[in-house]
Amino acid sequence: MSSDPSATLLIDGEWRTGASTFEVADPATTELIGHAADATTADARAALDAACAAFPAWRGTDAETRGGYLRAAATAIRAERETLAALLTSENGKPLAESRGEVLGAARMLEWSAEEGRRAYGKVTPPAANGPGLTLMTPVGPTLAITPWNFPASMLVRKIGLALAAGTTLIVKPAEQTPLIAAALVRLINDAGLPAGVLQNLTSSRPAELVGELLADPRLRKISFTGSTEVGLGLLRSTGERLRRVSLEMGGHSPAIVFADADLDAAAAAITAAKFTNAGQSCTAINRLFVHRDVREDLVARLEEKAAALRVGHGAEDGTNIGPLIDQAGLEKVERHVKDAVAKGARVLCGGKRWTPERAELKGAFYEPTILADVDHGMAISQEETFGPVLPVFTFEDDDAVVDQANATAYGLAAYVFGSDFRRLWRTLDRLEFGVIGVNEPAPVRPELPFGGMKNSGQEREGGSEGIEGYLEHKAVAFKL
Ligand code: ADP
Repeated sequence: MSSDPSATLLIDGEWRTGASTFEVADPATTELIGHAADATTADARAALDAACAAFPAWRGTDAETRGGYLRAAATAIRAERETLAALLTSENGKPLAESRGEVLGAARMLEWSAEEGRRAYGKVTPPAANGPGLTLMTPVGPTLAITPWNFPASMLVRKIGLALAAGTTLIVKPAEQTPLIAAALVRLINDAGLPAGVLQNLTSSRPAELVGELLADPRLRKISFTGSTEVGLGLLRSTGERLRRVSLEMGGHSPAIVFADADLDAAAAAITAAKFTNAGQSCTAINRLFVHRDVREDLVARLEEKAAALRVGHGAEDGTNIGPLIDQAGLEKVERHVKDAVAKGARVLCGGKRWTPERAELKGAFYEPTILADVDHGMAISQEETFGPVLPVFTFEDDDAVVDQANATAYGLAAYVFGSDFRRLWRTLDRLEFGVIGVNEPAPVRPELPFGGMKNSGQEREGGSEGIEGYLEHKAVAFKL
């Protein structure tokens, strides 16, 4: 095993350096923090060869044994939580407290997966005229997992946990911005004693080329993608003549609806968390806040107070609530949305501009936490995902019409509802066209619940008892007795 820190390729049980490397930067300072191996198409082929060779034995391993590896990996991740969190923050920029939470969430997801593998039950159907029938669950086969930079630990580990628990072998291709946390996690999981070839890691700065090589090979049976809608739809189309399973978790445009009977203090705290966590760079981040006219002023005053108290800075520093955006392109999108909204009549209640650090070394793409009032549907921010710390506020009066407004988007990942009247809450969540709904809850993602979107936000689910199905095929068996 290579001890070179840029040996970030795991292929057939062996850590390898690449023919070349690419640079990894701290988004808060833009300084170099390390190098990752740049996988070639030959590495991709070797990884798929290994995943295919390891598959028969892995699928034949009993679920309890597979779960044992995952539990050991979760324990190792918990033990390394501080080091992993620091690495995550240095690559992604998010505050350390958020990184700690994400690492812990990754361990919890592995533990959930370990148990779900044992519950991948099939079915026995009542005898028909000729005899009984069975539905058997069988692992889908060598899978490629493509993961993003915004939750580089949890998105990666949840795919690894479910795939391995189901008996599928896996190649992971983490985002080019965050390859080091991925390699560190894969190392811990692999070190739990996985047989060679069960898990491979391919870091790359040229994802299209690398992934293209794998897609051309019919032995690859599934892609599990988390990232932008544009790339996800491209992957879906790429299956061409040879269909393979594709699970997608893509962009969002989450509404939050605050009814007049909401607990405003609790709602303000929850909305602040659901908007500004990870500097708004989350596919479940609130992108449109709809507030009932009767409570608008009271709620917005509370939100302004909370936004003003958020400290922007380097994620590794104590007290930081908002780190940098991942890059300049992300910052420019945020600026474009705010500029467009203001030109069309929105009012900036706080923020509305780049954050200027006192310390010169913070050269990253920082933006102040921002609240916009008087937002309407003609503005870009009301149509597109912002992926930044900007909260646009709409006002409504009709409790039913606001649900139509919330649904008026091509996306359908997360939605939030705040209120206390049970009938109204129920009616609303029943009509919302979103895969994940928080009711007075800012963090609706839990291992026990299926996570995923409707419409252009995705297909299939990760988590819940549904999650393991993403890595299983149904095989129907009819007996004639
Ligand atoms: P973002 O815009 O948030 O970076 P992307 O969809 O570009 O989201 O990236 C998510 C993941 O998809 C990353 O691992 C990235 O390397 C990968 N990716 C980007 N472009 C492609 C592509 N053309 N084919 C396959 N994977 C890609």
